Amino acid sequence: MNPKFLHAANPGPMTGGGNWTYLIGDRNPVLVDAGVGHASHLDAIAAAAPRGLSQVLVTHAHSDHVSGAPAIHARWPAAQFKKYPWPSETGNRGPGTRDSEIAWTWLEDGSIVETDEGPLSVLHTPGHAPDHLTFWHAGSRTLFVGDMLVQGSTVVIPATHGGSLAAYLRSLERMLLLNPARALPAHGPVIEDPAALIHKYVEHRAEREVQVLGALAEGTSTVDAITATIYPSLMAALVPMARESVLAHLQKLEGEGRVSRDGDRWTLTT
Ligand SMILES: [Zn+2]
Repeated sequence: MNPKFLHAANPGPMTGGGNWTYLIGDRNPVLVDAGVGHASHLDAIAAAAPRGLSQVLVTHAHSDHVSGAPAIHARWPAAQFKKYPWPSETGNRGPGTRDSEIAWTWLEDGSIVETDEGPLSVLHTPGHAPDHLTFWHAGSRTLFVGDMLVQGSTVVIPATHGGSLAAYLRSLERMLLLNPARALPAHGPVIEDPAALIHKYVEHRAEREVQVLGALAEGTSTVDAITATIYPSLMAALVPMARESVLAHLQKLEGEGRVSRDGDRWTLTT
């Protein structure tokens, strides 16, 4: 497996240096993630796939991964577009592309996508987003991880927008069981030791959970107050993200019956 790395040309506060997309194969090229439709990304795809594009696989419907789909469709109308449906979707169109003419083919856990370099197995790995897919190339033990892993950083669990920490941790466990040799993420460098990063993530979340439980034990009960306790000197711009993380922890603990909620107050279950 030797995919071409194509940058989506979309650096920004939410995407860091911008998104990586990956082009697999020569005869029937498959693109992993659609970027945002930047002209230089489209030109890079055209240069890397002179015979045209066969399929576009989208890891999840966050805009930096899917919003380029209409532009790609306009330039390569024969390409098939595939993703997992967002839970609220009933029609045949993905979020962010409702006005486009894209007819999505829905993938599910266990689907197989054929490429020139062998089959990709599709894993449904919710947590960061409810529709998140991870693509596994067993031949080279390569995992296309979208936003599930980012080297040198943790991953946002947007608790108010379909994120679930419990689901995320289960998804990481599944990824670990594959024993991947490398992971190709949408952000940041290639992850050469995915297992080590996953272990670090699990440890980090466990430490945060202890902090959240500690705050609750001291009688701190709202998301805002718990966030201020755990992240005492956070820049204002980062507070919303920290709140999402605290809420994600509380929802996980609620699911386990360890905390309960009354309006916006959270308490330890006694
Ligand atoms: Zn995302």
